[in-house]
Amino acid sequence: MRRFSDYLDLISQVNDLSCDLGNGQKVLWLFHCGMLFSSRDKWWGDFKFRHSTHEGIDITYYRTHPGGMQCFDDSIKVPAMDDGIILNTCDDFLAQTIVVEHKNAISSSKRVLFVYAHIIPEKGLKIGHVIRKKDVIARVCDTYKNPLLRPHLHFSCFEISKKVLPKHLTWTLFSTNPDINLINPVFL
Ligand SMILES: [Zn+2]
Repeated sequence: MRRFSDYLDLISQVNDLSCDLGNGQKVLWLFHCGMLFSSRDKWWGDFKFRHSTHEGIDITYYRTHPGGMQCFDDSIKVPAMDDGIILNTCDDFLAQTIVVEHKNAISSSKRVLFVYAHIIPEKGLKIGHVIRKKDVIARVCDTYKNPLLRPHLHFSCFEISKKVLPKHLTWTLFSTNPDINLINPVFL
């Protein structure tokens, strides 16, 4: 929980989401249950069911002052959660995805991937690049092509065999490979 809540703080910092909730309170992040890991619910459109369970967490709603709820737009910067290396980039159903291996990840014989999705990578960002914690790696993508959905950052964490080549780390693999272990980002 600590690591994910630290990441939300990092998003607040790099985007200068100044907070006047009083008493030194931090930005308050809000999640519909359909935005959470393994949910079957939609948080958009008809609010019925997803085709499959959610493989991560969707981040967009927040509150910086009493009464007001805001959500991301395409100016929102996406920081790296930690130091790491860009293993791959690929398309997703809204925009693009960056696949990162962060250092200090859960130690195991497998590789732990951090997946930032529905974003536009920063210009010049290349596969193989070393990134530092708090580096802005992307912006949240506008969803004008899919107006039922608010712009949001989808964040996933997968555990996968080290034998899989980085170039194969795409949504095709993440959504079909039974050997991938999905980790709830809240429990990182
Ligand atoms: Zn999502």
